[in-house]
Amino acid sequence: MLDVKQIKQDFPVLQQKVNGKPIAYLDSAASAQIPRQVVEAMSQYYATSHANVHRGVHTLGERATSAYEEAREKVARFVNAPVPQNIVFTRGTTEAINLVAYAYGLHNLKEGDGIVVTLLEHHSNLVPWQQIAKLTKAKLYMVELTAEGHLDREQYRSFLKQGNIKIVAVSYASNVLGTIVPVKDLIAEAHAVGAVVIVDAAQSAPHLRIDVQDLDADFLAVSGHKMLGPTGIGFLYGKGKLLDVMEPFQLGGSMIGLVDYYESNWAEVPARFEAGTPNIVGAVGLAAAIGYLTDLGMDNVRKHEEDLLAYAWDRLDQVEGIQMYGPREPRTGLIAFNIDDTHPHDVSTVLDAEGVAVRAGHHCAQPLHKWLRVAATNRASFYIYNDEQDIDRLVTSLQKVKELFG
Ligand code: PLP
Repeated sequence: MLDVKQIKQDFPVLQQKVNGKPIAYLDSAASAQIPRQVVEAMSQYYATSHANVHRGVHTLGERATSAYEEAREKVARFVNAPVPQNIVFTRGTTEAINLVAYAYGLHNLKEGDGIVVTLLEHHSNLVPWQQIAKLTKAKLYMVELTAEGHLDREQYRSFLKQGNIKIVAVSYASNVLGTIVPVKDLIAEAHAVGAVVIVDAAQSAPHLRIDVQDLDADFLAVSGHKMLGPTGIGFLYGKGKLLDVMEPFQLGGSMIGLVDYYESNWAEVPARFEAGTPNIVGAVGLAAAIGYLTDLGMDNVRKHEEDLLAYAWDRLDQVEGIQMYGPREPRTGLIAFNIDDTHPHDVSTVLDAEGVAVRAGHHCAQPLHKWLRVAATNRASFYIYNDEQDIDRLVTSLQKVKELFG
């Protein structure tokens, strides 16, 4: 069990009032808040160890390099990667997926090949594949959903049977419906036809125990800012046998082996994919965030969210005129909803005046909203620092919305 009262103490941002009300932060699926332990680790790094990495042989350069590479080791352990070299630091999930799209997809697809995506995808795991399909003349197949919001597994299998599917790009958990996708099974089915699978784990790494070896994922992309880390840092996990033979994504300093007048060759992995000066302090912060989550225990994090989700689902279900989207389970701790015909931005504005922060919009998932036949939704998302009181505040504030717009 998580001690939420104690946890809240670690988040100074949650101690303040907004609009004269205590804050109920229910927007962690967009960006989670950062505990003081993470801020302190970053501040400590700047105060004692800052320099560029992999360059100077001076003491600070060595300290910075150690901090950066230790962060890589911590990330590798967090997702059970075989070796730290499987981890490439990126700006986040979007950059990690673009890396795979351009450094793998562009070089391995041709006319007649297929890429499978799903209707659950965030634009980050859809638009790059649309573009790669266009550039290579490969065909894009989109797996649709059952009425409840699960992937249509039959359709997925029928796409795989069409032959020439080279890449499957799939979310582990939907950022709108919360649906947890059976990625392990999807990966096994894709491997049976020789396809490579990239898993978008932006909405699952913060909430579930991830084991890339157990999943047998080829690539897996994560953002630090959704799991208590700073913005501007995330990572790509890739199997060594794939990363090792991939061309670079970006070119410049740090990613080269030898540079001559007219040609160059590349550094070993992961340096090959980390051109330029990396986000060193971001990596330090991400490692501290992983430390914080690991101390809590990912199974406890998941259990807390399941309990909170069950409470929220029952309470919201009683709000007249509410429409909640997605399956009841298995899902992560978020609920997208609409209430009567009130525009989500109006809902969100009223909630904000009550100190309740939720997100309104299409959540970078326009195709999914098209399927839901709505332009936008509100989304309340829960994390380790939320409790039943936060949910109660949401429900009470929704009554205010009804009074104003109902
Ligand atoms: N994938 C999913 C499922 C997401 O929810 C998000 C962010 O909302 C992303 C990808 C993109 O993450 P980032 O903006 O950190 O690159």
